[in-house]
Amino acid sequence: MTECNSVMVRIGELWLKSEPVKKQFMKTLTKNIKSALDARGLEYNIEEYRGRILIEGNAGEIADAVSKIFGVVDVSVCKTTGNTPEEIADTALEFARGNLKAGMTFAVRARRQFVKGFTSQQLAAFVADKIWSEIPDFIVDLENPEYEIFVEAREYGGIVYDSRIEGQGGLPLGTAGRAVVLLSSGIDSPVAAYLMMKRGVSMSGVFMNAGKWAGSATMELAKDNARILSKWCPGRAFPLWIVNIEPFLSAVYNACDTHYTCLFCKRFMLRVAEAVAKENRYEGIVTGENLGQVASQTLQNMNVISASVKSLILRPLLTYDKDEIVSIARKIGTYHESPGDTKCLAVPKKPATCSHEDVICSNEERLEEEALIAEALRYAELWIARDGEIYRKENPE
Ligand code: ATP
Ligand code: MG
Repeated sequence: MTECNSVMVRIGELWLKSEPVKKQFMKTLTKNIKSALDARGLEYNIEEYRGRILIEGNAGEIADAVSKIFGVVDVSVCKTTGNTPEEIADTALEFARGNLKAGMTFAVRARRQFVKGFTSQQLAAFVADKIWSEIPDFIVDLENPEYEIFVEAREYGGIVYDSRIEGQGGLPLGTAGRAVVLLSSGIDSPVAAYLMMKRGVSMSGVFMNAGKWAGSATMELAKDNARILSKWCPGRAFPLWIVNIEPFLSAVYNACDTHYTCLFCKRFMLRVAEAVAKENRYEGIVTGENLGQVASQTLQNMNVISASVKSLILRPLLTYDKDEIVSIARKIGTYHESPGDTKCLAVPKKPATCSHEDVICSNEERLEEEALIAEALRYAELWIARDGEIYRKENPE
């Protein structure tokens, strides 16, 4: 087995950006990578060369950590060497010894940049010849080889690798503003948060604790969702506000047409989230709503829900199928196999799939919403999730 000493990080969409923006994004990406490696207690040396990031250290561990950083398209565990064809070919041969057998189809992929004296094709031919001298009878197949070795001659050295680990893609976290997610105990909203983080948005969560109206498992599940989401922003905090909406739901039960309870509830949640967003300068409210999933998620009802606030509402899962959402939830770790009691007792037997804003508003006039929002916020708890742990912050400012 070749002893790999480095990880090469590839960046995708950043190349669409102008030079100054790209520079800023690279800076943020490098910072995020360092935070992730520091959070794992790894030793490393990180260098950025002309839009490539090369990290020296324990390559397996580093590759695993970096492949989870947003903005990274893929990573390769590699061995660095001198940038002469001889040194590169010797290193490539080490890889081939463990993996290439006579009769297998094989290709060398070569790149060269700012190194004079040979072309990429000449480098590929030189490396293939060297390997042939020890492992003859492989079959060159540039279209669909069973085994490939990638060699690069760069001004700062030679790089050799034979595999790529897929990254998350997206944009570096922290390059696309800040938003708050309505984070529930369910499957959808953590996935919505992950997708926003993947596009570079720093996220915080608000969980609405429905008290006696909610299933007994909901609060711990929501905290667990925040805890797991924090693993996707290593070294950074994922704050979670827990707000009490039990008094609001009781008031709805006593005073309003309960066919529309889910609409009153979603509108109230948005208002509370908007207050949190204003206070903390978040630029949008994210939800896990999904077209047609439940009665409150028809276009008609989403119109009425959206009208409750002025804030930008972002629904990254709007068009996803449930099985797509579940498969992301499994991948990111927020899918709970046996979630326990999550039933909401406030949901009516026949929730309305169609509503009109005037009817909803005239019902809401029977509630003292401002006072209920203030009360929900007065007893808000702030929890901080970080690197897969969650703890209560004693005195939220
Ligand atoms: P999820 O959609 O997250 O799986 P759910 O299915 O229990 O949760 P829905 O009725 O689909 O909830 O609610 C739509 C969206 O409203 C959720 O995706 C979430 O963003 C928000 N939401 C629902 N319940 C809560 C809650 N208790 N606290 C915060 N947000 C919530
Ligand atoms: Mg849902």
